Amino acid sequence: MRDLVILGSTGSIGTQALDVVARNPGRFRVVGLAAGGSDPALLRQQVEAFGVEHVAVADESAAEPLAGTSARIHAGPEAAAEVAGLGVHTVLNGITGAVGLGPTLAALTAGSVLALANKESLIIGGELVTSAARPGQIVPVDSEHSAMAQCLRSGQPDEVRKLILTASGGPFRGRTRAELADVSVEEALAHPTWDMGPVVTINSATLMNKGLELIEAHLLFDIPLDRIEVVVHPQSIVHSMVEFFDGSTIAQASPPDMRLPIALGIGWPDRVEDAAPACDWSTAATWEFFPLDDEAFPAVGLAALAARHGGVAPAVLNAANEEAVEAFRTGRLGFLGISDLVGRTLKEAIPSGAPAGNRVTLEDVMEADTRARARVRDLIEGIR
Ligand code: MG
Repeated sequence: MRDLVILGSTGSIGTQALDVVARNPGRFRVVGLAAGGSDPALLRQQVEAFGVEHVAVADESAAEPLAGTSARIHAGPEAAAEVAGLGVHTVLNGITGAVGLGPTLAALTAGSVLALANKESLIIGGELVTSAARPGQIVPVDSEHSAMAQCLRSGQPDEVRKLILTASGGPFRGRTRAELADVSVEEALAHPTWDMGPVVTINSATLMNKGLELIEAHLLFDIPLDRIEVVVHPQSIVHSMVEFFDGSTIAQASPPDMRLPIALGIGWPDRVEDAAPACDWSTAATWEFFPLDDEAFPAVGLAALAARHGGVAPAVLNAANEEAVEAFRTGRLGFLGISDLVGRTLKEAIPSGAPAGNRVTLEDVMEADTRARARVRDLIEGIR
């Protein structure tokens, strides 16, 4: 029986993780849950259904509906990190956004395996996070990185030539930059293949999600950026690939269903039987691959720029993006404005000249995050 803590339990990753756990009662035990607090009724239901011992809510006003359950309640902005730091076998971090950094560091410091769906914490923390982790302590849950980890099992590290990161292309694949000017929030939220939370879905429409995943792959597998290639694959069946130095490419394929990488993440290194349906070879299928259109979707290039610069640049990229996405969702910014503002904020934050050192502190990251958000808000005010 493996003890788990699930962070972001009422979100897309969290609810699917609990589905995997519920279908494997002898294998996993949920010790703690954490959620933001936007759905206290669902959180209470989860606490009771899984008999958890600890529950965390970031929004203190959401703690009251949890009263009377058997769980110890942790409330406030540090609550998720408290539960993440309990020292259980595996912590699944399914929180969305930069707020996942504290819990990521808490889980690593407590010695737990970190099943990481909160890519932002790794990206903005950079070396701060990688240096806190022992080899193998971070297990990717992001479908692409789970795929790469699976493909990497088929060769030695020094036999790897490059990683091939697949992108669905999102709902606007094939459109030119001009054709993206007037797209609506509803259109951006209609992802063709994946069912995800709203921020990740909009990040998939701009391809910033792929940009963040490029940095994530670089940090997780310690592969230089110029040896990671992004390819558009609209069917989202091949989740990523690894090319080895003999010319062989290994791909991981399965219908798009996050329960597969989630199950592998919490069960790592072992697979969980029937985690998700497999490919059906009895009907005809076509898998297509296209190069990335950098002009219509500049986000991947911006992410590469941030990663090459290092230091707090990835934190600036992520914070500016989170702020710009929120402005787009609430009708204060157009779709193209997202990448434009992220690019402008990033380029302003990167001084011309020598790149910054990679050693950053948590304070540096948080300060850069705050400054980037304020800058984006100022720019949006100026636009209106
Ligand atoms: Mg992904």
